[in-house]
Amino acid sequence: MSVNSKLYEGKAKILYATDDPEVLLADFKDDATAFNAQKRGSIIGKGKINCSISSQLFQQLELRGIKTHFIDSPAPHQMRVRAVKIFPLEVVVRNIAAGSLSQQTKLPVGTLLKQPLVEFYYKNDELGDPLLTRDRLLLLELATPEQVDTITNLALQVNQFLQDFWQQCGITLVDFKLEFGLDSQQQLLLADEISPDTCRLWNTAEADPNLRVMDKDRFRRDLGNVEDAYQEVLQRVLQAVASKN
Ligand code: 5GP
Repeated sequence: MSVNSKLYEGKAKILYATDDPEVLLADFKDDATAFNAQKRGSIIGKGKINCSISSQLFQQLELRGIKTHFIDSPAPHQMRVRAVKIFPLEVVVRNIAAGSLSQQTKLPVGTLLKQPLVEFYYKNDELGDPLLTRDRLLLLELATPEQVDTITNLALQVNQFLQDFWQQCGITLVDFKLEFGLDSQQQLLLADEISPDTCRLWNTAEADPNLRVMDKDRFRRDLGNVEDAYQEVLQRVLQAVASKN
């Protein structure tokens, strides 16, 4: 595979074209940003860790019939993916109240939700990724009603798998963000990444609200030991996958 021009540089990844127009190369960076890039930094080893965790999770999801953009991982920080046109949507699934849900509603952090909550945010940095209603999403023609239903169903299926998987890792899945896209055949694929950058992950055995955090909130909230937490998540993922094989 020869790698061609840089197509896009995001906050966490660089996308390169390859000699196959259907295939892109995603290069995961150590750069970390938060609060709409107002806070910037670097988490040493994050690129390799997030790429490895995402690769494992995408492969596990594929085994369960969920179509993803993952093809393979030619290097620890690189993933070959199917080219997709990304919906400008951040699809968030929540099992436990935290983050913006708690800030905006006063629902105490840690409140167990009776059922998973699926939310759509407009992926638009200029607007600060605002929460969308279904009607606003349709008004803006960000997806069709059928696509919204399919995405909601897929997000709930991914949640079921991830909740079980993280539980096997001794990790409680609080919430996470997914992105979806359409390939050249208009197939809807799960895209982007699933990692401690995009999930809230709490060490189940730890009750302390700061010590239990194993995800990007350690960076966002200056909790320290960010690299150690990411490394620990990767080790647990690899152990859980090995125990399945
Ligand atoms: P919240 O809305 O509480 O800030 O985020 C909910 C979940 O979605 C968290 O797991 C958070 O990591 C993820 N999330 C939401 N927006 C973004 C984003 O722009 N980038 C990343 N990496 N994760 C996001």
